[in-house]
Amino acid sequence: MKRSLLWLRHDLRIDDHPALLRAAQARDHMVCLYCIDPRWFVADNWQSRRVGHHPWRFIHESLVALSARLETLGQRLVIRVGDPVAVVTQLMRNHWIDKLVCSAPFGEEERGQYLAIQNALGHHRCEVLQAQTLFEYQQLPFELSDLPATFSQFRKAVAKHAFRPLYPAPQRLPPPLQLDSQALPPPFTVPNLQYQGGESAGKAHLAHYFASDAPQSYKLTRNDLDEWSSSTKLSPWLAQGCLSARQVMAALDHYQATVEKNGSTEWIGVELLWREYFYWFALSSGPKLFAAGGRTGVRRHVSFYPERFARWCAGETPFAIVNAAMRQLNHTGFLSNRLRQLVASALVHELEIDWRYGAAYFQQQLIDHDLPCNWGNWQYLAGVGADPRGGRRFDLAKQTEMYDPDGRYRARWQGEPVAITEPLDEAGWPQPDG
Ligand SMILES: Cc1cc2nc3c(=O)[nH]c(=O)nc-3n(C[C@H](O)[C@H](O)[C@H](O)COP(=O)(O)OP(=O)(O)OC[C@H]3O[C@@H](n4cnc5c(N)ncnc54)[C@H](O)[C@@H]3O)c2cc1C
Repeated sequence: MKRSLLWLRHDLRIDDHPALLRAAQARDHMVCLYCIDPRWFVADNWQSRRVGHHPWRFIHESLVALSARLETLGQRLVIRVGDPVAVVTQLMRNHWIDKLVCSAPFGEEERGQYLAIQNALGHHRCEVLQAQTLFEYQQLPFELSDLPATFSQFRKAVAKHAFRPLYPAPQRLPPPLQLDSQALPPPFTVPNLQYQGGESAGKAHLAHYFASDAPQSYKLTRNDLDEWSSSTKLSPWLAQGCLSARQVMAALDHYQATVEKNGSTEWIGVELLWREYFYWFALSSGPKLFAAGGRTGVRRHVSFYPERFARWCAGETPFAIVNAAMRQLNHTGFLSNRLRQLVASALVHELEIDWRYGAAYFQQQLIDHDLPCNWGNWQYLAGVGADPRGGRRFDLAKQTEMYDPDGRYRARWQGEPVAITEPLDEAGWPQPDG
């Protein structure tokens, strides 16, 4: 291989990056490409954009950091705006690049793009390596078509299996080709110092978390609504691949071997396995990840009420806890797992809206948006995914009493129940249009 092109997507790091190491074997030149699809910023069928202001701010910072790190290795990041299939195939053809290398895609659209490029260029010129998961595909003890139907079966099946190896960072990379790079669209939100994008910020946060006592009480605190140290807060860096799940698991193993191992530390590993499960779930579901009936094909009676949806997004529902959470989400781009469950349950079970509108809104807002985790969790809550109990409906009054008994969280995010003045249907909601 004389010239390689590394197509970066959700793997914005240098360490533990098998695709980057493979592309670095090029004898003459290497191109490091990040492609921005203009369609990310346009509302889709579910009325939300693929990438909203909060996640874009985080991605932007991650790209700036990656670009600087690549320069220390004699490389540079090329940014192109356009349809990734056209951008990649044209670069490969126009610059006589032998090999495209990328991390294995898990989402249906990205997989489709990769296959289209492979069709255009030929199989021998395209190679994928596994960077986002704990296991490589070949290490799974079952065929993907036999993926266990529930998480507990999955956890049991993989329990005794070793994870993929960790890969070292390269010392040097082949020189870049002299290609034009386009400007990054600017971020539209102010920096959030707690969640700063980039590999070194992610590593610093990982080191800080595992230098604290917080892992020892994780299982007791992980359901808190809004405390910084109640959970790892690693998800934004994992979502953009500034850190790999394998690196986080290695840090956890080290902590357990050298500091303490208890039920809480072990539970962090269980949550990382949930992430793993949703990745393989997404891959095996294909387009069903986005179908109303989800993986199960069971169609719930749902509809789309524009008024209800707009109020849910804005935090103007009759449920104070939901309103506070949606205000936090809109303001910061982050929500704790418990609050994600509550607002999702409200959308699906109280407002009876098609779950995909909620999932798409989360996709637009969350700084840690991660396709398999988001859409898999929404399916689970809506009862069309991997939940053996067939969906989760949370009693919002009880949950509020349990997790926000003194109203501190609602007060912090000004969550007031909003009275509705328009004519109501029997469920207490404005009459749907038409
Ligand atoms: C409706 C809904 C949508 C969600 N959307 C996303 C999303 O877009 N991106 C995302 O990373 N997570 C998503 N989650 C899962 C979970 O809420 C977040 O991973 C978690 O809140 C992130 O905070 P943390 O890093 O402190 O998690 P921790 O509690 O510290 O967990 C450690 C890591 O384990 C993984 N993890 C934890 N819980 C889950 C879970 N339920 N499913 C899958 N992986 C998990 C994450 O990678 C997380 O960073 C969603 C959950 C729900 C209910």
